Amino acid sequence: LLTLNYLELLLQPVAAEVAAAAAQPVAEVDADPRTAPGPNGLTTAEVRRRRLQAGANLVPELPRRSFFRRFLQQYQDTMQLTLIGGAGLSLLAGHRRDALTIGAVLLLNGLIGASQDDGKARSVAALRALVGQAARVVRDGVEQTVPAAELVPGDLILLAAGDRVPADAAVLTATGLAVDESLQTGECTAVDKSQASAALAAGTPVVRGRGQAIVTATGGDSTLGRIGALLEGEERPAPLQRQMDQLGRRAGRIGLWVAAGVTGMALLRGQGLATALTAGVSLAISAIPEGLPTFVTLALATGARRMRRQGGTFQNLGAVESMGAVTALCCDKTGTITQGQMAVAEVRLTGSAWRITGEGYCPDGAFHRIGAPGEPMADPLADPAMRRLLKVLALCNNARLGLDDEGALVTHGDPTELALLVAGLKAGLRASGGEGDRLLEVPFDADRRRMTVVCRDAMGQAMACAKGAPEVLLPRCDRVFIGGVVRRMDSKLRRKLLQDATAMAARGLRVLAAAYRPVPLSVQAVQAEKGLIFLGLAAMTDPPRPEAAEAVRRCKAAGIRVLMITGDHPATAATTAREVGLDGGPGSIVSGEQLALLSDAELGSALAQAVVVARATPAQKLRVVRALRQGGHVVAMTGDGVNDAPAMREADIGIAMGDRGTEVARATAGLVLEADDLLTLVAAIAQGRTTRGNVRRTARYLLGSNVAEVCLMGAALLLGLPLPLLPVQLLWMNLAGDGLPAAVLGDQPPEPDVMRRPPEAGGDLLGPGFSRKVLGHGLRTGLAATALYAWALGAGRPLAQARSLAVATLAAAQVRHLYVCRSSSGAGQVRTAGAAAAAMSLGALLVPPLRGALQLAPLGVGELALAAGIGVAANKGNPA
Ligand code: ATP
Repeated sequence: LLTLNYLELLLQPVAAEVAAAAAQPVAEVDADPRTAPGPNGLTTAEVRRRRLQAGANLVPELPRRSFFRRFLQQYQDTMQLTLIGGAGLSLLAGHRRDALTIGAVLLLNGLIGASQDDGKARSVAALRALVGQAARVVRDGVEQTVPAAELVPGDLILLAAGDRVPADAAVLTATGLAVDESLQTGECTAVDKSQASAALAAGTPVVRGRGQAIVTATGGDSTLGRIGALLEGEERPAPLQRQMDQLGRRAGRIGLWVAAGVTGMALLRGQGLATALTAGVSLAISAIPEGLPTFVTLALATGARRMRRQGGTFQNLGAVESMGAVTALCCDKTGTITQGQMAVAEVRLTGSAWRITGEGYCPDGAFHRIGAPGEPMADPLADPAMRRLLKVLALCNNARLGLDDEGALVTHGDPTELALLVAGLKAGLRASGGEGDRLLEVPFDADRRRMTVVCRDAMGQAMACAKGAPEVLLPRCDRVFIGGVVRRMDSKLRRKLLQDATAMAARGLRVLAAAYRPVPLSVQAVQAEKGLIFLGLAAMTDPPRPEAAEAVRRCKAAGIRVLMITGDHPATAATTAREVGLDGGPGSIVSGEQLALLSDAELGSALAQAVVVARATPAQKLRVVRALRQGGHVVAMTGDGVNDAPAMREADIGIAMGDRGTEVARATAGLVLEADDLLTLVAAIAQGRTTRGNVRRTARYLLGSNVAEVCLMGAALLLGLPLPLLPVQLLWMNLAGDGLPAAVLGDQPPEPDVMRRPPEAGGDLLGPGFSRKVLGHGLRTGLAATALYAWALGAGRPLAQARSLAVATLAAAQVRHLYVCRSSSGAGQVRTAGAAAAAMSLGALLVPPLRGALQLAPLGVGELALAAGIGVAANKGNPA
């Protein structure tokens, strides 16, 4: 499981890279002398030379640590070191039983830690296996099989169904070639790779067809290699982990100092070395919260389990806590706030405007001319501009529509492109033979906001077809198609067309422009996107999700700031935002262009009033998240695609939407929602808050016990009394007595107002009142136990019995403390845990073998009642 998690986590950049590699047309690959293949493949001499340069085609191994080394590494923190010191000193003092008990606790900690720790090395081993054993290559004009590790960039490889792609490669020729990219995309469907220049990532299995490809990157430079390298990177520890580490270290340090002080004091008083050392060790143990890390982890794991039942998977435990601390929620628009199921509702040609009926991807619908009342147009394709526009939009398109065996519509691809295909179908457009012969593709990405393809028609003529955001495409058009003829486009017309686009966007429509141009067959990408002929605008509806407004309302009630960050037009985004209750005054809509002019320092104040950031590039999304974090926000960011991944990574927690989220988004996310339901997201915040509360309760309960013990030990020693608690007794109380209650406190149900109160200030888990409460409980309990202990000794009771009284007092106080720490809705479970904790303590006092092992003495009913009464009474006024 750990291996899988790591793989998932680290596959995050893969799709981005595959997309980038796909953008590299084969012409560019050819031009690179490192990768240029001869018709006969590379020569043996050339292979040797390149191998020296590029090294073996293997994912570099991480230095693997042995189990023993990992086991030893568990003992690097102060808490464990103090315990080791304690065991050693107990041995010195002649207390073998104490030393053994501490040793057992240490051993257990070490074994648990070591068995969890080597996920990284195992993940890299799994990555290495993905490269495969052998590869078929053409070298010196001869087809041969070589070990996959011996491939070099430029090698001509042969692929067939059943092979694994042995290195990153670009397709040269292929017949029906398809690979399974589930590793990158999470979808188990075969992905067609029969187009020349299609990018193949190392490690993907070929499921169909065959082909020739040229190796573009091997070993550490390949997709798998880069994932492997990422494994070495530092992981950012969750805030809670950091706090717990600090707390443990601090407690360990305090323990050491106090222990040293007490030992010194005892020696000065003339007590023997053995007694002084025992006193020191006991104090150190009383100060150390041995169970804290375990029970905090348990509380987080319980929170994650509960969320899974509600349809959300936290990818790591830190994510549960981060989710509970969120103060700002950044949502992308398309597919998260909106349904992401689009339909072209309007088309605006130069000179006419059309309305298109129908819903979703169903190809039933009609074209009405706006301003011409009456029947829908029988044949919209009779209009030459409409025909050309729809054709360009269908050619410049990678989505696919089809029918399955039962006649149901099957869709594949980007919702925007699907909507454009459906519009074509409604008009009666059918692909005509030969025209779809694609020579070149400059793919869409969120930075370019446009896509262009070059296709060859049946006559062998090439045509560039482009679509994209109007303000990006219009400046690339110098002509316009009006009424079947091509005219020059002047700046006045361009301005007017941009205004039309903005007016449509202001109605919440997502607007794309389309353009074309005849080009020479050998045209390069840069030329294909210049001097275009403008065709028209297609505007799509994408209604908000039904639950979006409610989710926004709940977040607001919980004091969480909701910010929509989208690549879409400001006017479209503003309308959608308003529809879901995200209104704002002046300064509430910030555009990418404005952001580009601001320094990082200015960005913070520009975002203060913002509810929408529109036309944001992936880099700007990241800047916004960073600025919010710098402004003290704990940021959650939703996303579904490659373009959201950098910002999701930057956020305190990334959230991948289930249905639409690509594997890239999932791998980056701390929380993956099973379905695209924003209310599940809200539930995850509630669960996160509940879990944080539970962690706080657990920590308060356990630390309260430590403070009480330290207080008792310190006070007794100051009074010159013998040591009140021995190391075995302390360990029993801390681990056995406190165990079940701590676990129950870590799993308290949510309080009814959990989403009606503001986020915790500063995201600080323990909060300002925390120390006061812990110290209050500890001091009261510790002093009460000291009083009883001193009284018993004064009354001439044997030492073992006085110790039993002290143990009984502390145990009763802890049971009472359990009630104080519980959540307002967790009374039932706490009752059972309280009874169990009481039974543990009574067992230690009443069951003879256990009592003997813990060096305690029997107590009468009256004495037990007295100790319990004092323990409970000491905590009567303890604040909840
Ligand atoms: P969000 O960031 O909320 O998911 P988005 O989907 O609008 O929103 P992008 O996918 O980055 O963001 O799209 C940005 C812009 O690029 C769109 O507004 C549109 O103008 C243009 N665009 C989107 N998809 C395509 C496409 N397939 N081809 C060409 N242009 C596109």
